[in-house]
Amino acid sequence: VLQRLMKAEKLEIVSHLAASISHEVRNPLTASRGFMQMLQEDEKEPAKKRYISIAINELDRAKEIIDDYLLFANSAPERNEKMNISEEIHHVTHIMTPLANMNGVAIDFTFDEEVKCFVMGERRKLQQCLINLFKNSIEAMQNGGTLTIKVGKEGGAVIVDIIDTGCGMTQEQINRLGEPYFTTKEKGTGLGTMVSFSIIHYMKGKVSVSSVKGKETCFSLEFPLCE
Ligand code: ADP
Ligand code: MG
Repeated sequence: VLQRLMKAEKLEIVSHLAASISHEVRNPLTASRGFMQMLQEDEKEPAKKRYISIAINELDRAKEIIDDYLLFANSAPERNEKMNISEEIHHVTHIMTPLANMNGVAIDFTFDEEVKCFVMGERRKLQQCLINLFKNSIEAMQNGGTLTIKVGKEGGAVIVDIIDTGCGMTQEQINRLGEPYFTTKEKGTGLGTMVSFSIIHYMKGKVSVSSVKGKETCFSLEFPLCE
């Protein structure tokens, strides 16, 4: 048992280290991208312009990986706390609004302060989990649509349904969700759902997915209700 404990502690240290490194790496990436952009605008020679554009794409890719994986991770360990899940969803819908607007997606979520659905977990992790799922839904609606989020209680559980009117998935795609590096996107990382699923699991929750190819997708999350 001791052996296993030490292993778990080491893993925790590694994950905190990775988190703080990714924070540090994000700033130089952003700065470099800014300068590349300036260079590209002034560049007249087509070949050089193309090299710069490749470099910008590669920087974007590195940023995507950090965003999907560790955006909200922090070098300081987090505490488990009781959270009103509607409040967290409300917060995350604000963060996602610019991306939704860019894709012509309306977000349908009504924050009702009276409805209190409490869950236990680490706030940043829960936010990361929701961001990754909302992002996928919005990205699935390239020609606009609606992202609907419903929150409710069922027995001893809190249910969150994330519904989009996007491209949908085949059964084969659904089966592969959560598998690292599985992506159907040109610039995808294939890490988003893996991270979300592991956070849900960590919060002792469950997730089920239903989808109609070319039409819609629903991610249904279930967390133990915290009284
Ligand atoms: P990425 O978004 O970088 O591709 P993810 O792990 O977040 O990686 O998602 C993996 C794949 O699952 C996506 O490439 C997409 O094919 C599929 N997917 C996830 N969510 C949805 C959704 N809401 N609608 C349609 N496809 C989805
Ligand atoms: Mg994703």
